[in-house]
Amino acid sequence: MIEDVTLDDLPLREDLRGRSPYGAPQLDVPVRLNTNENPYPPPRELVDDVAGAVREAAARLHRYPDRDAIELRKGLAAYLSASTGVSLSERNVWAANGSNEILQQILQAFGGPGRTALGFEPSYSMHPIIAAGTRTEWAPAPRRADFTLDTPRAAEIVAERRPDVVFVTSPNNPTGGSIPLAELELVLRAAPGIVVVDEAYAEFSSQPSATRLLGDHPAKLIVSRTMSKAFAFAGGRLGYLAAAPAVVDALQLVRLPYHLSLLTQAAASAALRHADATLATVAKLAAERDRVAEGLLGLGFTPVPSDANFILFGTFGDTRASWQSYLDNGVLVRDVGVEGHLRVTIGTPEENDAFLVASKEIPR
Ligand code: PMP
Repeated sequence: MIEDVTLDDLPLREDLRGRSPYGAPQLDVPVRLNTNENPYPPPRELVDDVAGAVREAAARLHRYPDRDAIELRKGLAAYLSASTGVSLSERNVWAANGSNEILQQILQAFGGPGRTALGFEPSYSMHPIIAAGTRTEWAPAPRRADFTLDTPRAAEIVAERRPDVVFVTSPNNPTGGSIPLAELELVLRAAPGIVVVDEAYAEFSSQPSATRLLGDHPAKLIVSRTMSKAFAFAGGRLGYLAAAPAVVDALQLVRLPYHLSLLTQAAASAALRHADATLATVAKLAAERDRVAEGLLGLGFTPVPSDANFILFGTFGDTRASWQSYLDNGVLVRDVGVEGHLRVTIGTPEENDAFLVASKEIPR
């Protein structure tokens, strides 16, 4: 039987045996607050514009798309320039199917066998998974007990270990805190190789973007971004980066030709034209985040201060049982593997109310 073959029967790479895939459960639950998406669906005009752009592109589906996605990269560069105050062109920007693919291309080009990537844990669980997939050795480094990054210590660790790639996630997922530029500088100065600042949640942050440091560190710094969070485009799969043009040249050596479909490019460019409308939800979500944090405090929980659209909170004696109890109450939150803590994504006010009501019922 085809089904009788198991993983053990396959000639899988030894270094992948026993590993677990990325695992956010996709469950059909009334209130889904587990994958940090924007809870507001795209506005009507955006939907119409995307549909029109995709319809027009559909007439050209017999041809490969623009391999270099120039128009889309121009749009992304214009957005980043306007939002960060740093003048960037399409030569500074590269795009892929989600920032996960961006991060994978970075490790394909700058990591790999015999090389090391370092990250400050707990942080985004895909960083070590992508390291494993690209056979890059993963070097975990600690955060403080309160989950903030001790940047002088981080710089020391980087100087000692000399990793080829350093990941700094700001705001950090799953803990929510972001890092001031002056502190990022310390890590950048200490790093011998590439520093990837993963800014998936940058639009929610009160700190300026690391894009501002590109001028001083063009051979080191890569700022990774996504349209999956604030841009309400998670289903569209579009991530991008800002860096020196030479970094874009390097990634072209490892990217698959035509990796961004004609439909993705058309849809993302159309969505970008409505950035102002989509990003109007950011202030609402930030205000809701602060309300939810207050609510959790009032219920005797300990929310970790967040600069993103989610909150890590505790403390629980049996995290798994508490996660299940939320689920039984119709609310899907995330067990991110941080002892005693769960993570909740900020939803609509109604969803957040449902979460806070459920929180009263949860065993701790
Ligand atoms: N970086 C961080 C810190 C994230 O939290 C996520 C999404 N969970 C990503 C990157 C990847 O998102 P995407 O591939 O949808 O752009």
